[in-house]
Amino acid sequence: MQGKEIFRSMTPYKPGKQIEDVKKEYGLDRIVKLASNENPFGYSNEVKKAIPQLIQNLEIYPDGYTTELRNGLANKLGVKKDQLVFGCGSDEVVDIICRTYLEPGLNTIMATPTFPQYQHNALIQGAKIKEVPLIDGYHDLNGMLDEIDKDTKIVWLCTPNNPTGCLISNDKFEQFMKKCPSDVLVVIDEAYFEYIETSDSPDTIQALNDYPNLIVLRTFSKAYGLAGLRIGYGVANEEITSLLNITRGPFNTTSVAQGSALIALKDETFLQESVSKNIEIKHRFIEFLDKIGLTYYDSQTNFVFVNLPISGDEMFQHLLTKGFIVRSGEALGHPNGVRITIGHLQDMEELQGLIAEYLAVHKEENTN
Ligand SMILES: *Cc1c(COP(=O)(O)O)cnc(C)c1O
Repeated sequence: MQGKEIFRSMTPYKPGKQIEDVKKEYGLDRIVKLASNENPFGYSNEVKKAIPQLIQNLEIYPDGYTTELRNGLANKLGVKKDQLVFGCGSDEVVDIICRTYLEPGLNTIMATPTFPQYQHNALIQGAKIKEVPLIDGYHDLNGMLDEIDKDTKIVWLCTPNNPTGCLISNDKFEQFMKKCPSDVLVVIDEAYFEYIETSDSPDTIQALNDYPNLIVLRTFSKAYGLAGLRIGYGVANEEITSLLNITRGPFNTTSVAQGSALIALKDETFLQESVSKNIEIKHRFIEFLDKIGLTYYDSQTNFVFVNLPISGDEMFQHLLTKGFIVRSGEALGHPNGVRITIGHLQDMEELQGLIAEYLAVHKEENTN
C-alpha cells in the first residue's frame, strides 16, 4: 500500500542502542547508557511514592484538559492557563505544530545539525525544508533570517541546540525576533532549559508578551527525568494554543504522566540537586577533554559533543564493546565526533580512561 510520495525517501527514527541488546551482543552485565540525554540521577522520589495512587483508576480516561498540571505550570511560569498545550513528549507538540501550520507550498527553516523531529514532521506535512548550517555549533540567525521568504511559515530554534549544546544568547534572540516577520511562527525548543548555567539566556516566557508569533517548548523528559512517561508542553499566546488544541488528540497525555509531572514540578529539591551534580560532573569532563587536547562545543546542557581525530562510529563502536553507549556524530550529521550524555561521576571517570587509552593507541599507530 503506497503512502504519501514523501515516504519513499523517509525512514523511521533510529534510536540510540538499547541496553538489553548491547548486554546480549557483547556478553556484558552492566551497561552505561549515555546516548539519549536522560537524567542519570533518575527522577523525584516523590513521584515514585505517588505511583501506587496514580495507577488507581487506569480504567478511566485521563483529564483531556490536563487541569491540575495546567494550573500548577501556569502558576509557576506566570502565564495564563490557556497559553499551555500538552503533548506526549514535546516530540508530539512538534508534530502538532507541523500539522496545524504546514502544508505543501509552504517552507520551514531550521539549523543543521539540530533536533531531527522538526524536519521529519514538516516533511510529512509536505512542507519544503530549508536548512541553515550552524556556525561553530551555534545557530546562524542572520543566515536563517535571509532564508525567510513569502512562503516561510515556521522557523525552529533549538536552544541549547541538540546535538551541540550551544545556546542562543539573549541579545541574538532579541535581534532575531525584532527582524523576523510577525507572520512567521518561531518555535523555540528549550528541552534542556533547566541545565542552562549562563545568565545570558533569553527569558522566552517573558518574550511571549512581546511576540505573538512565538512558541516555547519544554519537557519533563530531560532534567525532570520522566522520559519514560512521555510528557512535554508548549507555551504560546492563546490564538496559537487554541489551534494546537484542535489538532491534538483529546486524551494525548496519560493520567500517570499528568499526575507525575505535577509532583515533579513541585519537587524543586530533586531538580536542583540533580542539575547541580550534573553541571559539576560536566565541568570535570570538560577539564579532562582540555587535558587530553580534545575540542568540544560549549554546552549549556547535560551532554557534550566531542570532536575526535577518528570517526564517531569508530569511537562509538569501541566504547560499546566496553559497555558504554554514546551517540555517534555520524547519525547526527557530524561524523568526526560523539555526543556524550553526562552520567554518574564514576562512570564518567571510567569512560574518560577508555577514551584516553583508545586515542593513545590510535596516535601511536599513526606515528609508526
Ligand atoms: C529530547 C528532546 C526533545 C524531546 O523530548 P520529549 O519531551 O521526550 O519528546 C525535544 N527537543 C530536543 C532538542 C530534545 O533533545
